[in-house]
Amino acid sequence: PSTLYIVATPIGNLADISQRARDILAQVDVIACENTRHTQRLLSAFAIKNKTLSMHDHNERQRQEQIAALLKEGKSVALVSDAGTPLISDPGFHLVRHCRQQSLNVSPIPGACAAIAALSVAGLPTDRFTFEGFLPSKSGARQATLTELAYETRTMVFYDAPRRAIDTVEDIVKTLGGERYVVMARELTKTFETVHSDTAENLLAWLQQDPNQLKGEMVLIIEGNKVDPTAIPAHVVATLKLLLAEMK
Ligand code: SAM
Repeated sequence: PSTLYIVATPIGNLADISQRARDILAQVDVIACENTRHTQRLLSAFAIKNKTLSMHDHNERQRQEQIAALLKEGKSVALVSDAGTPLISDPGFHLVRHCRQQSLNVSPIPGACAAIAALSVAGLPTDRFTFEGFLPSKSGARQATLTELAYETRTMVFYDAPRRAIDTVEDIVKTLGGERYVVMARELTKTFETVHSDTAENLLAWLQQDPNQLKGEMVLIIEGNKVDPTAIPAHVVATLKLLLAEMK
């Protein structure tokens, strides 16, 4: 049946594309993508010739009508983003919702995702985690976001620009404390792939002495708040003390 395929593409190393992704990209009637030039480059690397249609945050609603109409005509469409899995901090949510609401077939072609790749090598608990997407670029907003997450016990995954890494880690020290464990996963699957983990304080010092760490793309992973489940919360202790004083 005609299908909207959500196709993951590599996050750096082109060899990470799946055989299924290549087949689908060659077979569909049109490929919706963020940046047609970028996607044509990817297609030519695999000797695939196909039509592309640009779809970004600003024209997604208009494109969704057009793509739904193609699917109703019996055509198949692939959606790709510039890198990794579409919809994960990338466009496509409105399109997928629109198609699902109309009972059109939507099928995933899974593959690379920077957040999951980073998590798989971070060495932090992965049984439960939260994906927080991009951290705000301004320090005030970033500190507010981090403060809200101060008591989060799950591992937290963020996208951020390495050129802001020093400012971001400084904000982590201020809001979550210098002892909090942080993993920086930079340039995954590429030549300068670096995964560095340390306390926020030590990570900051490490970044400050190596400007090369501020280049490329990165995922930041922050350890969840380690609360001792057997500890009696401070407010309960205070209440008990008051009660004890009353009893005397
Ligand atoms: N949809 C993509 C995915 O599945 O990972 C993410 C798109 S988002 C617009 C781009 C962000 O993903 C970058 O700013 C960076 O935080 C992260 N990223 C993408 N490729 C990466 C890589 N090779 N290494 C580390 N982080 C990467």
